[in-house]
Amino acid sequence: MSVAVVAGVGVDTRHWIGGRRVESADAAVFADHSPIDGAVIAQISRGGAAEAEAAVAAAEAAFPAWAATAPAERARLLHAIADGVEKRLEELAIVETTDNGALIRSHRRGVMPRVAHNFRFFADYLVSQLGHPDFETRGHTNHVSWDPAGVCVLISPWNAPLMLATWKVAPALAAGNTVVLKPSEWSPLTASLLADIAAEAGLPPGVLNVVQGIGEEAGAALVAHLGVRRVSFTGSVPTARHIARSAAANLTPLSLELGGKSPFIVFADADLDLAVANAVEQYDNAGQVCLSGTRLYVEESIRDEFVARFIERTKALRQGDPRDEATDIGPSIHPEHLARVDGFVQRAKQSGATVLLGGGPNEELGGLYYRPTLFTDVDPRSEIATAEVFGPVLVLHTFTEEDEVVAAANDSAFGLAAILFTGDRQRAQRVSARLVAGTVWTNCFFVRDLRAPFGGARQSGVGREGGTWSFDFYCEVKNTVFAPAGWRDGREGSVEAQSREED
Ligand code: NAD
Repeated sequence: MSVAVVAGVGVDTRHWIGGRRVESADAAVFADHSPIDGAVIAQISRGGAAEAEAAVAAAEAAFPAWAATAPAERARLLHAIADGVEKRLEELAIVETTDNGALIRSHRRGVMPRVAHNFRFFADYLVSQLGHPDFETRGHTNHVSWDPAGVCVLISPWNAPLMLATWKVAPALAAGNTVVLKPSEWSPLTASLLADIAAEAGLPPGVLNVVQGIGEEAGAALVAHLGVRRVSFTGSVPTARHIARSAAANLTPLSLELGGKSPFIVFADADLDLAVANAVEQYDNAGQVCLSGTRLYVEESIRDEFVARFIERTKALRQGDPRDEATDIGPSIHPEHLARVDGFVQRAKQSGATVLLGGGPNEELGGLYYRPTLFTDVDPRSEIATAEVFGPVLVLHTFTEEDEVVAAANDSAFGLAAILFTGDRQRAQRVSARLVAGTVWTNCFFVRDLRAPFGGARQSGVGREGGTWSFDFYCEVKNTVFAPAGWRDGREGSVEAQSREED
């Protein structure tokens, strides 16, 4: 079956290659389940080496014309895609919620508008910002250009599927590349709808291709392809290691946006209500957010007050069907993932950690719903205190000294984000400067601007995307030197001449 009807929306579940819907060469499919009730909602084409080959070939064929398309025309087409996203926003929201279980209200009001914004932002940025003033070297003009790199393979995870995919697709296309997108097998549907929207917007065939499939099959085959000029990946550290090994064989440049175990620090001088409200937000998307501040560090003197307010607020959260606007916490993505989350929790309990909240599945709701969980009395070196759980599970530590909390916060294999709450501006500056993280939020959380760099330190990633950083990654940055008119002396611009000058 090639078209599935999901929540009333028709989704073509075949690959999108060279402007055509195609089944896998061997007609293989896999089942896509909704985390809301476990029902099979679609059979999805299961790609492999043949589809990777076909998609890269289509992208290679489309590249010269797309790279040569005037930036203003590329920008116009990206805006047309954004228009299509806005027109079909409700369909995208309901399909995404059904597919990955995240809240309909955030898809309607946050995520899908942001998908459209991803296209608008990089379209405008391309036209208005990209450029560098020429500069002179002994009368010769240096001209820096951002040339499209070629075929980009973009691999995205399931926790914010379309938002994270388009955060890669938009700058890659804006820069003049052609792309092959491989969405997660646990949330494949909105990538298919994006292909329709792009085609309706007039994007030429082969410029955007979507290969569906399992990571180790379709994803691995795409990364290993010699025709690929860039791989951008968002996902877990173990997968990133596979991808990095494979890309290294071809020397393919990589951008890796990976996991985290971010510190969330609350000083006694903080606005406690604000800090608690933000701490509870770390359970958003059932804790399936890479940036979540899952290690809470609360100053000892306010610990009891913080915990009391935190528990009260968390208990007031409504867990249930994510299609209901009133729901605050939905299900986990998949039975395998839930079992993994529960494994962390049960091992932490066995090791003697104290459960302040939750500690297991939500038995009343059944299915994939897991209770928001808070541990304390946790050894800072233990698994629960150091590993990324990627579920609604936080650990609480206390501290008394600034140096102590900075050292504890930085004592992590990760470095994606850090969040701190304090009423003292100087402390905010002092502490934030010492934290190792790609993004530090002081007295706020999740404020994102596409002009800002985004990425992780340490094992949270390699490279940065956003604004200019995206274009630096998706382009070959080239310097061209023009001789002045009438210039004839071969020695003037030479290394010899330069070293004479430096002497
Ligand atoms: P994952 O690593 O299991 O899968 C991510 C993608 O990689 C999927 O599309 C999958 O099919 C593909 N894949 C799997 N094996 C592959 C292989 N061998 N070769 C090529 N592709 C392969 O991650 P996930 O479970 O989908 O997502 C959760 C992880 O993503 C968490 O660790 C989370 O922190 C991280 N994440 C990071 C960010 C960020 O911006 N830093 C954002 C969201 C999620």
